[in-house]
Amino acid sequence: MYGGAGVKTSPDFPIPDQMKAWVLGNPGELKLTQKPVPVPKRAEVLVRIDAIAICATDLEVIDYGSPALIQGGKPFNKNFTPGHEYMGTVVALGPGVDEYRLGQRITVEIHAGCGQCKRCREGMYTSCLNYGLNYGDLDKGHRANGFTTDGGFCEYQVNNVNTLVAIPDTMSDEEATLVVTAGTAMYGLTELGGLIAGESVVVTGPGPIGLLGVAVAKVMGATPVILTGTRDNRLKIGLELGADHVVNVRHEDAVEGVRRLNGGKGVDYVIECSGAPNAVNEAIRMVNRGGKVCLAAFPHQETPVDVAHIVRNNIYLYGIRGEGKSATHRAEAFMSQKRFDATKIHTHTFALDDLPTAIRYAKDRVDDAIKVVVKAKGVATHRVAAE
Ligand SMILES: [Zn+2]
Ligand SMILES: [Zn+2]
Repeated sequence: MYGGAGVKTSPDFPIPDQMKAWVLGNPGELKLTQKPVPVPKRAEVLVRIDAIAICATDLEVIDYGSPALIQGGKPFNKNFTPGHEYMGTVVALGPGVDEYRLGQRITVEIHAGCGQCKRCREGMYTSCLNYGLNYGDLDKGHRANGFTTDGGFCEYQVNNVNTLVAIPDTMSDEEATLVVTAGTAMYGLTELGGLIAGESVVVTGPGPIGLLGVAVAKVMGATPVILTGTRDNRLKIGLELGADHVVNVRHEDAVEGVRRLNGGKGVDYVIECSGAPNAVNEAIRMVNRGGKVCLAAFPHQETPVDVAHIVRNNIYLYGIRGEGKSATHRAEAFMSQKRFDATKIHTHTFALDDLPTAIRYAKDRVDDAIKVVVKAKGVATHRVAAE
């Protein structure tokens, strides 16, 4: 019988003892197996996972390990379940939980910080100083599902109540998986960056964070919003999500294109989402003096950077890890008000059993895939048309 002391469940949502779960073996190797359904502790709930999106960071974790950190090391052959961009239904409440009700639809953000370190106290729980310290004698209560604790490529997962975002019934499962992506762009622009209406923004790289970065910048009142990239089909989606201009860097130099479109003086913000080798040097030449560059993509190699240009021009450069300061709640508010249509970046849906195929679509961009979603139930065919 599923349960634990003080745990509340409902006959409307029967919970099995065992569930399907994908686990990571050697690099690049996923196996479908069975795991016990986890039981929520204090301040946690059990989420029945209804949909999960595949993120570029999942592909990093599955092939290279980092930034996942399991028991102080790489996540391979540790019975670890990756996946982090999921949504679902609350089906069990841990002791004392009254913030959410059984049957409530929610989406999740990834990081539950330790709650006691300096960064957590500042609301920067995605940069928790006790990252990954959640096992054995080092248990600091930190969780980043799909990175330091089991994630969502399975049927159920426990989440701290601080990581839940309530969603309305008007939001589809697929759209709800995108709240955390929009929340990441929101955190980079507003909480970390300080964007206010009327400032100018360039997004480099039309991946999921870049495209939703365009949408968030636009609804925040940024003008102009300029998107750069190499694929016309993705640049077109950027225009639909609110970009005022796009620059195809196959046809025009990215820096010259941006300067031409913004009167030659550069923009206030660049969100760098391409990870291209020269992206940082281009970004610091796209911003104006005193401008800010948010780095949201990671290249695999170290990159030479023109530090003198940064110093002479008082440019701010900062990395972003995830979606801190509850930015997901603000992103969800825009999405539930239909201020932008995040579903434009959702292209494919597969069944949970077909995860390896879904991953191949996301990785190789098969059939122009952008955001690929996996659902445990209710997927009749292998591929569902884009919404
Ligand atoms: Zn992600
Ligand atoms: Zn912390």
